[in-house]
Amino acid sequence: MCGIIGVCGAEYAAHMAALGLFAEQHRGQESCGMAVSDGAVIRLRKKMGLVKDVFTDDRLQELPGNIAIGHVRYPTKGSATEFNTQPHLVETLYGPTYALASNGDLVNYNEIRKLLEAEKVYFKSDNDGELLVKYIAYRIIRHGDEISEAIRHLMKDVKGAYSCVLCNRTELYVFRDPHSIRPMVWGIAPSGAVVVASESCALDTLDVVNRHEVPPAGIIRISSDPDHVGANQILVIENDPNLYRKNSSEKHCIFEHIYFSRPDSYHFGEDVYRVRENIGAAMAANDAGLNPDIIVPVPDSSNFIGIGYANASKVPISLGLIRNHYVGRTFIKPEQTIRDESVRQKFNVLPNFFKGKKIVLIDDSIVRGTTIRKIVKLIKNAGATEIHLRIGSPQVCHSCYYGIDTPDAKELVANCHSLEEIRSRTGVDSLKHLSMDDLRKCVQEPDNYCYACFNGEYPLGVPH
Ligand code: AMP
Repeated sequence: MCGIIGVCGAEYAAHMAALGLFAEQHRGQESCGMAVSDGAVIRLRKKMGLVKDVFTDDRLQELPGNIAIGHVRYPTKGSATEFNTQPHLVETLYGPTYALASNGDLVNYNEIRKLLEAEKVYFKSDNDGELLVKYIAYRIIRHGDEISEAIRHLMKDVKGAYSCVLCNRTELYVFRDPHSIRPMVWGIAPSGAVVVASESCALDTLDVVNRHEVPPAGIIRISSDPDHVGANQILVIENDPNLYRKNSSEKHCIFEHIYFSRPDSYHFGEDVYRVRENIGAAMAANDAGLNPDIIVPVPDSSNFIGIGYANASKVPISLGLIRNHYVGRTFIKPEQTIRDESVRQKFNVLPNFFKGKKIVLIDDSIVRGTTIRKIVKLIKNAGATEIHLRIGSPQVCHSCYYGIDTPDAKELVANCHSLEEIRSRTGVDSLKHLSMDDLRKCVQEPDNYCYACFNGEYPLGVPH
């Protein structure tokens, strides 16, 4: 999973982009990068590490310009090396230079890469973003396409999830796959700069109040010309109705609502926290008669699911588990031993809280089962008498090929053990998952979502 940002028409575009990226740090902590154009030169800085460490004030001073695109990454396609960090730059000898940052995963990466290599297009990495920008540059240079035309071709040829920002020296292009699997929003900052981001929480930090979603198969072309200010910078917003119809409907990633996005974000026509509250309420409706003493969510991702459950059941909620925020996302750690260790460092219990209590423990999902087993052990050791575990999603039985970093299907605990085995291995008194039917009721347009990680129905097929 990754996060992207684009800023166009700002005096200090790099500074704004850094603030936006910081707000999206939860989407990727492995590396970050930025490409900034001052109208004559596009400068690139990307590095392994966190936004605050890589983009210090001194470093930002070295990135002058009024267009910036940026990226935070945690690896899905391509290993966690500096080669695979984004944005990717294509420099042509006499012609223009392009930089691109993307969020998502491609399904026919191998096929398109072979096609381009046969045309003597060379690659430095095995990252999707490089393929996308090289495809576009190839269309422009070899076929004489305008940029928008090249993007249109890309939308026909390249299958997968991609929310992208692309810049040359004077313009920013924003585009999104026809199924709009990953979120992407834009708006205008008080200074008049146009800002685009994966999540609206990044727009909020830049005081952008008027947020819009980039349409499916949409392309937005934005000028950095100082004569075009604010809304006038937007030269074209198009979404090809043919392409859109041909590819049927939107297939947003439901997991963005369940776990991945920040609760203060808005996308796919929904407030993320409200979807989570709905999930909690749906689970509470199936627990009539349970009568727990207290609801305890696993922070932070399950807090709003817990609130929804508590409001609906009228049982009090309390933050009995405390999370150390400096550990980062445990899931992202590359090895199981490191993951185990991080879980213990990440969570602790309130002293004298759990003793003698019957609790409903709420988590958003179980993937490998590492996190929840450790948490349950902690809570039991703290004296809870009964633990009823409620999971705010159906069982994760299938890998994601569209940008969420779920492991191989054989590592998914739901594939190796029955629900009863998982319950007893976890050591809880009861275990229930949200059903698919209930999940669908938690969003306004249930047919507009991809649920492949739960039901194996991949709207774009799997990589080949
Ligand atoms: P696990 O320990 O493998 O069962 O991980 C499940 C926990 O990790 C859940 O409680 C989620 O909060 C979180 N999680 C689920 N999916 C992801 C993901 N794709 N990337 C990072 N964290 C995740």
